[in-house]
Amino acid sequence: MRVPTGKYSQPMSRHASVTRRAALSVGVLIVGTVAAGLRASAARAQPASTARYRGYSPEDWARPYAKFMADRTLPPTPSVAAAYTGPPTPAEGIPEASTLHTELAATDYSPIETGYGRTSSGKVWVAVHTEMPGVTAAMWDWWFGWHSAESARYKLWHPDAHLYAGLAVDKSAESISDRAKYIGNVSYVDEYIGPKLQQLAIAFQDPLAHGFEVPDGHTMILARVGSAVAPLNVGWLAHQVRPIAGGCEMRSRFYLDMWGIRLPDIRNAVAAVERGPSLDPRDIATDMEAARELLLHCGQEMHHLARFLPDLYNEFGGDAQL
Ligand SMILES: [Zn+2]
Repeated sequence: MRVPTGKYSQPMSRHASVTRRAALSVGVLIVGTVAAGLRASAARAQPASTARYRGYSPEDWARPYAKFMADRTLPPTPSVAAAYTGPPTPAEGIPEASTLHTELAATDYSPIETGYGRTSSGKVWVAVHTEMPGVTAAMWDWWFGWHSAESARYKLWHPDAHLYAGLAVDKSAESISDRAKYIGNVSYVDEYIGPKLQQLAIAFQDPLAHGFEVPDGHTMILARVGSAVAPLNVGWLAHQVRPIAGGCEMRSRFYLDMWGIRLPDIRNAVAAVERGPSLDPRDIATDMEAARELLLHCGQEMHHLARFLPDLYNEFGGDAQL
């Protein structure tokens, strides 16, 4: 379906005006307040979960989908491996975040589909292209509506790096569309990006409201990325899924250093602290090393999940949900 861009023709611009320094200044103040109140709040709030561990517990192995859990994440594709070991993309080859809705148009490709670097305006940028035989966009919508409800589901995606997942509101079992389960919802995850453990809040957005075109048979997973503990947003992510011969392709984009303030979720902040937090928002690195590691992480998890997503979906998604 085609959607007029209208007043949303400058995607994400409403959230991009806060500088890193301002965000950190406010964030440090709020974090101090939140941290001081967390222990008291913990007595009243019901923590989402304090369980964080690598791999599967005996209880996890008893789950019906456990046969899809691998010992290790698959190696990245050759194009991702080459980009990871190569230099950053020069700024003149990197589109600014404000053009993302045209870069991720329904057709055509960008000159560079896999790489990392910094835009001319100083934002960190990561792009990853993943081909997925036998996979459809509907499977990805189902995955995003399903996986965050249990950490054991989330771990299927990247066994090496994923440790915890929870939701602001668990809609995974509701009789609504897969997109309605995740758009407008927030996923709280603990995952290693390279050597560094991150506690992130992934706030999924409606791509149509940000000017993206999403034809039938495609999907666009769009989210604001922030800290699960500090009330800070750090960037944006977008995963466009388009059909190709024999399956689909995913065009992933990340823009970091796009700071903003997010409303804290005390219940999930409490749970994140109980799991072992990084309370200092300055801990959220947005340098070139972080960009490289994010490129590798994304390339690995998308390639890894795509190998068994059709079988997982056939067993637990689609008609199997009815
Ligand atoms: Zn991940």
